[in-house]
Parts: sequence; C-alpha cells; structure tokens
Amino acid sequence: MIFGNYINGEWRTAGATFENRNPANTHEVVGQFVKGTAKDVAEAADAAAAALPVWSGMTGPARGALLFKAAEILDRDFENVAADMTREEGKTLPEAKGEVRRAINIFRYFAGEGSRMPGMLVPSERDRVHMFALRKPIGVVGLITPWNFPSAIPAWKLAPALICGNTVVVKPASAAPLSAWRIVEALHHAGVPKGVVNFVAGSGGEIGKALVNAAPLKAVSFTGSCEIGNWLHGEASKRRLRIQLEMGGKNPTIVLGDADFPSAVENVVNAAFFSTGQKCTATSRAIVEDSIYDRFVAAVVERTKRLKVGDGMQPGIDIGPAVDHGQMETDLRYIEIGRKECGEPLCGGRRLTEGALAHGYFVEPTVFADVTEQHTIAKEEIFGPVLAIMRARDFEDAMRIANAIPFGLSSSIQTTNLSRAFEYIYRAEAGLLTVNLPSAGVEYQLPFGGTKDSSFGPKEQGPAAFEFYSDYKTVYLKY
Ligand code: NAP
Repeated sequence: MIFGNYINGEWRTAGATFENRNPANTHEVVGQFVKGTAKDVAEAADAAAAALPVWSGMTGPARGALLFKAAEILDRDFENVAADMTREEGKTLPEAKGEVRRAINIFRYFAGEGSRMPGMLVPSERDRVHMFALRKPIGVVGLITPWNFPSAIPAWKLAPALICGNTVVVKPASAAPLSAWRIVEALHHAGVPKGVVNFVAGSGGEIGKALVNAAPLKAVSFTGSCEIGNWLHGEASKRRLRIQLEMGGKNPTIVLGDADFPSAVENVVNAAFFSTGQKCTATSRAIVEDSIYDRFVAAVVERTKRLKVGDGMQPGIDIGPAVDHGQMETDLRYIEIGRKECGEPLCGGRRLTEGALAHGYFVEPTVFADVTEQHTIAKEEIFGPVLAIMRARDFEDAMRIANAIPFGLSSSIQTTNLSRAFEYIYRAEAGLLTVNLPSAGVEYQLPFGGTKDSSFGPKEQGPAAFEFYSDYKTVYLKY
C-alpha cells in the first residue's frame, strides 16, 4: 500500500516513494511512503497558517472533543495499530501495545485539558483592578520525531500542540513513519478541520531544512540525536523560533550493596535490553557498589542469557531486532570497540542470523564488565542492546561516575536506604529519575525531559507541555 502525505486535509499519494521494511524480516515491505519535498513542506506550512484562525477560534472543549474522538478511533483500531508498529519498528507486540495504549491515554489526557487550560488569576494591588493571564496558541508548529517511540512521541507532541490551538506540520522518522501516519489518519477521521494537521514524510535533511525555514513556522519541537538537534537549534535561532529539543543520553543505574538484589537485577536487565536497548531512557551503564559487584555481574549475565531474541510478533520473544541496518551496524561497531578496549563481553556480542533470524537485524544482548570511565562504551550513546557494568567503591564514587558525563536524560538508583535515595534525588544530574524501578518507563502526567546536553527548552508532557505550546496574554482590567 502507498501511504500518502496529508496536506490541507488531503491525502497526496503521487510522486516518488520510499520503502518501510520490517527489521525482523527485511523481505516484508510494510508500506511505501510518499517521499515529501521542500515544496510539500511549504504547502503544508501555508495550509497550517490558513487553518490557524478557525482552529484557535474554537473553544478548548470543542478541540478536546475532536481529540477524544481521535483517541476512540485509535482504540477501535488498537490491535492493528500495535501490529503495524511491531512490523515497522521491531519492538515486541506487548511493547507496541503498551505504547499505543500510552498514545491513546495521552490524547485523552490533553483532550481533557481543553476544558481546563490553566491560566492565572491573582489579586491586584490596585482597587477595582481585575488581573489575569490567559493562554494563547503560538501558531504553526513543526514536529520532528524519531523512530524509537513512533506512536507515543508523535502523540505527546501532537496532542498538547493541538489542544492549545496551534496548527502543525509533523515529520516522522523515515525508519518508522506508519505509526505516526495512523495517528494522523485518526485525527482526519475524527473531523479535525483541514490544514490543522499536516504530515510530510521523507528525508530528514530535506524536510527538516524546509520546515525550519518555512515562513509561517513559529516553533519546532524535535526529538532525536544530539547531532541533528544541535544543528536545528542553530537554524531555529537565526529566526528566533521557539525550540524544544529532546536528544541523546548515556543513562546510569546505580546499584548499592543494600539494594533488593533480585529486583535490582531485573530492573537493570529490563532497562538495558527491552525494546532492544532503543529507549532514550534505557540504562547503558550499571554502576555497581564493590560489595556486591561480582555477584551482581554474574546474576545479570545469567538473566541476560535467558532473554529470547526474535521476531516481536511471535509470543515469548523478549527482544526484537535493531530498527534498521544502520543501527545494527552501530551496535556491532561499538561491541567491537568494547572488545578491543575492555575485553570479551561476558555474554552476547554477535549478530544473530540462524534460522528464522536470517533476514532480520538481530543483535545479541551484550554485557561488558569492568568497564571504566575511560572506555568508549561508557561515554558514547550506542542506542542498542549493550550494557556496560562499572565498579564503584561506594555511594560517593557511584554518584561521581553517574554524573561525570555531558548527558543528563534519565538516571536510576537501586537501594533500600531512604537517606541514600534522597541524597541521590537531589544530586543526580538528570531530568528523569527512578528509584527501585528501571530507568526507562515514564508516564505522561508529569514533565518529561532531560538536562545538560540531552535537552533544551521547556519540558514535554504533563502540565509542563503548556509552557512550550502556548504563550500568556496578561490582562489588567479596571472595573
Ligand atoms: P535522528 O537521526 O536525529 O532523527 C530524528 C528525526 O530528525 C527524524 O525524523 C529524522 O528524519 C529527522 N532529521 C534528520 N536529519 C534532519 C535535519 N537535518 N533536520 C531536521 N530533521 C532531521 O534520531 P533517530 O535516529 O531517529 O533517533 C535516535 C536518537 O533519538 C537517539 O539519540 C535517542 O537518544 C534520541 N531520542 C531521544 C529521546 C528523548 O526524549 N530525549 C527520545 C527518543 C529518542 P529521518 O528519519 O528521515 O532521517
């Protein structure tokens, strides 16, 4: 099937296409996507600008009603949308179902916000002056999304952008555009007016450049690599566009000697390998206190060896493939670097090609131990199923190692000591913290985002999303 771009309320299926293939079986073409051009982006941005008065002129509850409807449609098509995601991105079907459920919940959450839209009302110092600040949309917003959460991330940008009264042009990742396409389809069927939502798939370089230069654009929200995010920041700054960047990480989990040992092992393995290590909040460094180090390494290796790698559509599979050939090559390249610098991994370390895995991008979950801060795999983001275990003398040493990197997305500690947990919470240099949970696995009701080189601009999700997608208008009224 050919999946068209969606511009000014029309599906455009003419023109050159690119293939979306199943990373678990590259013989399977999931779909052909129309390769958008700079001209498409310009038309989409113009359509969004033209739709702005109608959309921003609707009441918040009326906009919310349409988002509720889109959520209903996604819910109705839940099984198919989730299966599409597994086929295009590779994550297991239960993981895909969890993500689609999250996208639906995000739409419902922000649909409800249409009836609240929190402003400010405070008492004046002056007699008979009524003062308040109300929220207004910022205008046309560009949304650029990555492949690793191909439904949830478009949802957590689209829903708040729309409920605030903005109109949008969304550009999905080329490796997994179908999940975002499904959301746009649901918004179309829900009856969102033409031009409010526009979807242009295609090469990041061409579409991204055209989007950031589109005359009507007022803001851009980007999730992806530091390299592209930093480039976008430079371009957006030239035009003083509002910008929000969520980028890479090298997330630590500290494991202290007093941790609940079995759950610490489970949490580290879950955060390192589920979704094939392709979560932005995945643990890539386990920093383990000396007193339990050897026992912990042995337990993690034993648990990792029991993970089942394969096609995520099959029951009983824990770990799917890398999203594409490029990501698989990156994983294997870092594994080789790890081998050279730290010695043979304690498990994994190979591409899997036997039997049914022959036509997919499968990489064994890989554990390196005795990794130090000087080693490349302790410093650079891999974004694959590779865990570096590092030894820490004590809590202080673990905190120092955890913080001594330029990234600051997520971070975790495993401990039963309440004082240590609080000390960690106040000192950890990351935007998302977990205690006795995997470092990955966030919800939508609270702010999401990192610090240091991982992020820039206001946070996403929860009430924080309004800070990016709306502006204040402050009013002083004498009566
Ligand atoms: P990416 O290569 O930076 O791509 C992200 C998006 O940017 C894609 O839609 C891509 O399009 C587009 N793009 C590429 N070149 C562009 C350009 N010159 N201008 C504008 N847009 C451009 O990242 P990815 O490989 O999809 O995702 C993996 C990265 O995302 C990792 O670093 C991960 O840590 C990060 N991530 C961070 C978070 C977070 O919340 N902090 C969440 C998820 C992922 P094409 O696909 O067409 O190239």
